[in-house]
Amino acid sequence: MSDTIKYLLEEERIPKSWYNIQADLPQPLAPVLHPGTKQPIGPDDLAPLFPMALIQQEVTTEREVEIPEPVREIYKQWRPSPLFRARRLEKVLDTPARIYYKYEGVSPAGSHKPNTAVAQAFYNKEAGIKRISTETGAGQWGSSLAFAGAFFGLEIKVFMVRVSFNQKPYRKALMEAYGATCVASPSNETQSGRAILEQRPDHPGSLGIAISEAVEVAAQNADTNYALGSVLNHVLLHQTVVGQEAMLQMEMANDYPDVIVGCTGGGSNFAGIVFPFLGEQLRGGKKVRVVAVEPAACPSLTRGKFAYDFGDTAHLTPLVKMHTLGSTFTPPGFHAGGLRYHGMAPLVSHVQDLGLIESVGLHQKGCFAAGVQIARSEGILPAPEANHAIKGAIDEALKCKEEGVSRAILFNFCGHGHFDMQAYMDYFADKLVDQDYDPQELAMALAGLPSVPA
Ligand SMILES: *Cc1c(COP(=O)(O)O)cnc(C)c1O
Repeated sequence: MSDTIKYLLEEERIPKSWYNIQADLPQPLAPVLHPGTKQPIGPDDLAPLFPMALIQQEVTTEREVEIPEPVREIYKQWRPSPLFRARRLEKVLDTPARIYYKYEGVSPAGSHKPNTAVAQAFYNKEAGIKRISTETGAGQWGSSLAFAGAFFGLEIKVFMVRVSFNQKPYRKALMEAYGATCVASPSNETQSGRAILEQRPDHPGSLGIAISEAVEVAAQNADTNYALGSVLNHVLLHQTVVGQEAMLQMEMANDYPDVIVGCTGGGSNFAGIVFPFLGEQLRGGKKVRVVAVEPAACPSLTRGKFAYDFGDTAHLTPLVKMHTLGSTFTPPGFHAGGLRYHGMAPLVSHVQDLGLIESVGLHQKGCFAAGVQIARSEGILPAPEANHAIKGAIDEALKCKEEGVSRAILFNFCGHGHFDMQAYMDYFADKLVDQDYDPQELAMALAGLPSVPA
């Protein structure tokens, strides 16, 4: 029964614990502050929104956090996810680089997001919660939590950014197929939503607004918690299954990455692949160059300020120190809905501040060209967000060609684009524009940053 034995070995390669980079950081994260008192918050301040197990994961400095067996059982449905050597892409680029990608599009929702959705649903169910409210941009997170909610018998309520809601009706249908409800944000269902609609009835929405709506619903209902698909420490922690698996797979390929590339919206898929390798480096192991790729139109890492800010527009969340464009910043329209957040994960911001990673902002047309190039060479059509990582990796491979050196480049292929075909149709019809953010809008949003005593 060699097939069965092989199958069991595959399952054995799913990590037994998540990796917590907080254990290896040379300097700890800045504390999270209460929005009113501006003093560090304690676990009880977050209790109305999150189960205690997740609050503890937010602050723990233990290196390994055990993955509960029921979560690992569900991971087995699609994990370990495949790692590919992109030989056909290498050939098309005529590069001496060795390009590898970890493909997270094999999950039921089509991206890396179920890695944390399943864990969050598990801990909420354990804590006796009946319902979870959340926001979604392009719909990837909403469908992932809807999928996880179905497995654990939780009601899921999703506030979806209105532009995406209109652009991507199939994502809503997927959430409903999993049993969730999905409304366009800003909505009439919350105070924060109504306040925005009063000012501007046709408001296109933003992640910051959708977060305010979801947090409001959770704060007002005892049986309802809130869940976030990125940014927070526990979300990044859950995503480290990606990098840990990639480490083993690179070892099987007899190679080690010289460069790792990931796209950054809130920072979770990037941290997921990068942090296990950075941890190795921080503990005295091999050094690796790391590049975060973000949209030039929403450039929190490359143009944002490293400062305390709110996570949402209505200022209901605590203050976290992160690279931010200001919580009122609304980026111009572009197609990677998952990369439109005003802030960046505190952990990703912190490692950039420590000089451990680099970042670059790219325009969307070049990213779509890279996505089409990889579809034609490797056969997988990427999510518009993933196109940023692909373009970043291709640029690195072309640098290898110029310099005549062979480097191993690893990137996170964080999701497929099967629900994003309108974006590709617009690209092929030459309707996409490379827009820059409005510098005045950014200056105004940054001027509104909360002041915090030193
Ligand atoms: C949500 C999403 C992103 C952006 O979120 P991160 O937390 O930065 O990973 C990127 N790619 C895909 C496919 C997504 O669904």
